[in-house]
Amino acid sequence: MKVCKFGGTSLADANQVRKICEIIASDPERRIVVVSAPGKRSTDDIKVTDMLIAAAEDCLAGKDAKPHLERIVARYAAICDELGLAPPVIDAIRKNLAERLESDRSHKAEFMDTMKAAGEDNAARLVAAELKRRQLRARYIDPAEAGLLLSAEYGRARVLPQSYERLSHLADYDGVTVFPGFFGYTPDGRVVTFSRGGSDITGSILAAAVRADLYENFTDVDSLFAADPRIVEGVRPIKEVTFREMRELSYAGFGVLHDEAIIPAVSAGIPICIKNTNRPDAPGTTIVPHHTDVDSRVVGIASGGGFCTIYLSKYLMNREIGFGRRVLQILEEEGLSYEHTPSGIDNMSILLEEEGFDMQVEDRVLARLRDELGVEDAEVERGLSLIMIVGEGMRFAVGLAASATAALAEAGVNIEMMNQGSSEISMMFGVKQEDGKKAVRALHKAFFE
Ligand code: ASP
Repeated sequence: MKVCKFGGTSLADANQVRKICEIIASDPERRIVVVSAPGKRSTDDIKVTDMLIAAAEDCLAGKDAKPHLERIVARYAAICDELGLAPPVIDAIRKNLAERLESDRSHKAEFMDTMKAAGEDNAARLVAAELKRRQLRARYIDPAEAGLLLSAEYGRARVLPQSYERLSHLADYDGVTVFPGFFGYTPDGRVVTFSRGGSDITGSILAAAVRADLYENFTDVDSLFAADPRIVEGVRPIKEVTFREMRELSYAGFGVLHDEAIIPAVSAGIPICIKNTNRPDAPGTTIVPHHTDVDSRVVGIASGGGFCTIYLSKYLMNREIGFGRRVLQILEEEGLSYEHTPSGIDNMSILLEEEGFDMQVEDRVLARLRDELGVEDAEVERGLSLIMIVGEGMRFAVGLAASATAALAEAGVNIEMMNQGSSEISMMFGVKQEDGKKAVRALHKAFFE
């Protein structure tokens, strides 16, 4: 049995929905289907999820959100009309959206998640209707009825462990179950979403819950590539990548699969295959527990911008027991999560995402570091990119760091920070954002060309 997940571009218009129905119908093992909300039809289009967020924001600001609603209904209506779905399908979608817009707004984050969830929920209803129209045995299922329980962390929920057992009954249905991605319910019945792109996580959880043989993740590219194809021309496709490599790659900007979508499938030992809705016969990339081929020194180079570091120094920091804990405690109290903490004798750097670390928070954190911990020097550098070189075989390869730093030096890229050691299978470089692309090209050349 296979669990398939289709991303936003695979639902963008009627033609894409036709393709996914054909993919489902072509393999009787594809019995659980997770869908995203309709995504962009072209580069300048707007995703339904972004339209829903705009609607919710206007609503919360006391503005009229009806125009948004009309535009969103129009996206679904265009798909329904072209597919020839009966009028009750779009009527139900319109009603569902209008009811959400009228729902309780007293808890802003909950209202926002209720609106965001509408994209996937209605896409799943639409796909189930289309499968039935094609005479396939199919059903839409609500995540609450199915048993997907999530933590009450709005906009960034996590799965609760009891969900797996509760969802296992999904394997018993002998038709196709269409399950909306991206959201679930708290134990007290409130709608809550994962972070953006979270339908991938839903698919992975369902694959684990029903003990699927394969989790197929359909997107709009033929495979993963060794680096971002928008940055490197003629980039090498990746045929096979391990769970651990994928986790490192997707965390640092490999946009194809949500980084939290790896663990549920991994824990259940289920391989994941990334495939293209537009070319379903292309082999794609398989994410496996262990490599089957030998050359896995470097499988990919991931990169992502939007990072910053807090540099701090204090004389004799190395002698002060508990210093690191107190630094991290300040971050915890400010609600900040950090990515890396390379440290020296008298200094420490904390690498974190810029989002959520605005100037106000920065002032507060720096003041606390000085006042509470007696830090002598503390400053923030913004506008950094993270570059990760990833490969299981790196553990055994000699001279990799030398090749990487030589390539960066030759390209004139200054390394702001480097971290190797904490993960045996990756090497991290922090560079100025403006050097990010140059750095990726230089590293791709060094390892793949
Ligand atoms: N529709 C949601 C988003 O745009 C979730 C997803 O597509 O996976 O983030």
